[in-house]
Amino acid sequence: MNHALALSLVSLVSFVSFQGRIIVTDNTASYEFGKRITFTLTVNSAVEVQAITLFVLTSDDSRTQVTEADFTPGTSVTATVERGLRDHPVPPFSAVKYWWRVADASGAELTTDPATLAYEDNRFTWQTAQRGVVTAHWYAGDLAFGQLAADIGAGALERINRDIGAPPPESVDAYIYKSVKDLQGGLELGGRTWVGGHADPALGVVLVAVPPGPEAALGLERDLPHELTHVLIYQFTKPNYAAVPSWLNEGLAVTQQVQPDPTYRLAVQRAQSAGTLLPLTELCGAFPVDAADATLAYAESESVVRYIRDRWGSAKLAALLAAYADGATCAGGTQRVLNTTLAGLENDWARDVLQASPLSNILRRIAPWLLLFLLPLIPLIGLAFASTTKTQRHEDH
Ligand SMILES: [Zn+2]
Repeated sequence: MNHALALSLVSLVSFVSFQGRIIVTDNTASYEFGKRITFTLTVNSAVEVQAITLFVLTSDDSRTQVTEADFTPGTSVTATVERGLRDHPVPPFSAVKYWWRVADASGAELTTDPATLAYEDNRFTWQTAQRGVVTAHWYAGDLAFGQLAADIGAGALERINRDIGAPPPESVDAYIYKSVKDLQGGLELGGRTWVGGHADPALGVVLVAVPPGPEAALGLERDLPHELTHVLIYQFTKPNYAAVPSWLNEGLAVTQQVQPDPTYRLAVQRAQSAGTLLPLTELCGAFPVDAADATLAYAESESVVRYIRDRWGSAKLAALLAAYADGATCAGGTQRVLNTTLAGLENDWARDVLQASPLSNILRRIAPWLLLFLLPLIPLIGLAFASTTKTQRHEDH
């Protein structure tokens, strides 16, 4: 055996033995929902442990968060890292992936296998009921209430699928809170205290606030189809879901509500008379934080989407989604599909919907049916016209 080979064998042996000297004896993560996640690692090593680093990857962030743990160096150490969930929220019902890297004084390093923490809202005892791909979860109310939620959810998926052709997800979990206060407990609101429902389309998770009782069906028919629409739009447009303008995404969601929101029509009418309508270009991105402005944003979006459906048909709404999935800009999408700018669409909408008389509104709605009714009469009209012309010609002569 020559000297160089002997040396390399020694270093190989020492590398292996150093690796073996860092032993993980405890690796856990626990959480208090909406407040904090605590990650704990206990390791032993023959030599002093000098650095422990935590890596965390959440479903809403493409970047891994790297945190150096604070601990007293030694051969047997426990490191704890706390993640405050008010400052760094984690999406409810998502999986949090984490792993550690440990280094000791000998230069040896150990990286643990990635572990997963299921971040569920454990403040309540959830029951489940299923219909098709929809699993309803609830904690207040009886089994009939939960089944009603699953039924309404499954019906909504079918309807939305028929309307805009978006494929349903493989599975969707609908969590029914009994109050908005309960629902908001784990959400990043960013000042939007008016939030009453939430969808995490990538996870296939929707949250609504509907208490059990005589009004339950009304509430579920209003909120579930809305949130589920976002899930289907995600299925249709991923990975470009974020490019779908809010006026189209939210407008479609509101128009799918079986129970419309009566305050929306009033909000648009008031803003029109006050001259405070929000320009469509401002509704491409995130909606306003202010509650009254947000209501107006939803109301206008609903009205514009209804206008597109009435004037061009549902197929054009699907075509718009396809254009945004294909990477079109907010203005580029309407140009490509409807052959109009955003301002043009807004002007047409204002002229046809807001300034039109109730009679012309009715006429616009029934125009296709009127045409269908008049079609068989066209030959008769033609005949009558021809005979009149003939008579006129005779007279000319
Ligand atoms: Zn929405």
